[in-house]
Amino acid sequence: MEKSMVQLTETFSPALRDQILARLEQERTEPAYRLLTPTALRQLGETKSNGDPIVSLYLKLTPERRQKGSWHAVFKDLTRTQLETISDPRLRDHVAEELERIELALKEGLPAMGRGVAFFVCESLGLWRQIALPIPLPDRLELASTPYTRPLVRTRDEHDRFVVAVLSREHSRFFISQIGYVEEVLTLSGPKLRGLVTDWIDWNQRDDLERQLNEQTGKALAYIAALVFQQFEARYLLFSAPEKLKPSFLGNLPKSVQEHIGGEFTIDVHAPNVRVAEVIDPLERAVEAREEVRTVEQIQESLPDRGLWGIEQVVDALNQRRVMTLAVDDDFQVSGGYCPRCDLLMLDATKPCPACGEAVEPESDLVDQALELALAQNATVELVRSEAARRLMASYAPIGALLRF
Ligand SMILES: [Zn+2]
Repeated sequence: MEKSMVQLTETFSPALRDQILARLEQERTEPAYRLLTPTALRQLGETKSNGDPIVSLYLKLTPERRQKGSWHAVFKDLTRTQLETISDPRLRDHVAEELERIELALKEGLPAMGRGVAFFVCESLGLWRQIALPIPLPDRLELASTPYTRPLVRTRDEHDRFVVAVLSREHSRFFISQIGYVEEVLTLSGPKLRGLVTDWIDWNQRDDLERQLNEQTGKALAYIAALVFQQFEARYLLFSAPEKLKPSFLGNLPKSVQEHIGGEFTIDVHAPNVRVAEVIDPLERAVEAREEVRTVEQIQESLPDRGLWGIEQVVDALNQRRVMTLAVDDDFQVSGGYCPRCDLLMLDATKPCPACGEAVEPESDLVDQALELALAQNATVELVRSEAARRLMASYAPIGALLRF
């Protein structure tokens, strides 16, 4: 990443670079629902309220729930149950108000794509996060001094963050994408786009203008794609570009991005976002399947010193802080226990913590806790969802790891 930074500064003046980054942030405020970016997740991780509790809500949006607003009954049940548990009337009124704001936002519209929503809200903190989830997470409502972000570990797969570029000389669009969900983050129409490249054009060579325009536009788009790629910490780039632009676009991509081209597709530059999502879906799935299979094979090849299979072995390795990559079948579930004092996982929650001897907290989903612990140790996580990798994993174990040492 460092290297491409340098190249970018050489091509775009720092002022222009800042201007594009500012626009990325600005244009992203437009859609009500946003994909969760690594930056936004880190910010949530640092958020804490000393006064009013932070309301965290997760709501699955299955096709059935989207029909005739049937999500509403689920939402009402969830909120009623939660409000009944609050004995302090002032607090109850306050939470009811926060939930009303969330209800209004949901009534205003559900995200057109995706499998669910998450809200993190606290009026006195000025906190309002309205997130579209590309995968279904269990319904849940939590009140606490910090946002309840643990279920989001399931969205933190190493290989599913894409930047999608739909390019032409007159109109170009940039998206961030995860598991078939797309969010448009930057749109450049004719005049804006031409404004970026005019400095590089030699207007005296009029006969050469067409070629120059293709070359310089491709160059500008390559650097913008690289900026978006860095900003959203993407892992792969997918693109659609006319033949004339392609050589200069590809040729001017920093090497770090060039090496992460996940595929090419063809689409009308004005196609609706839902259509873009449909077209790229098979490309994203192919990249994910390939990477998942590679991780599973790597674990198998690294046995027994640097790789292991099985929940018991994984729990031991996590407790010893040895995990570099944790791979798990996304459907795998197991219960266990956790000691918050020692930050240790246990398979048997009825036994005391082996380190401090105190009783441990039972965990209905030990896998979520394991993923969280892995991420806290700077390990990467691979949530296995493709048929190919699942089949392969089935012959070993539903969970495994690559080790640092
Ligand atoms: Zn302990």
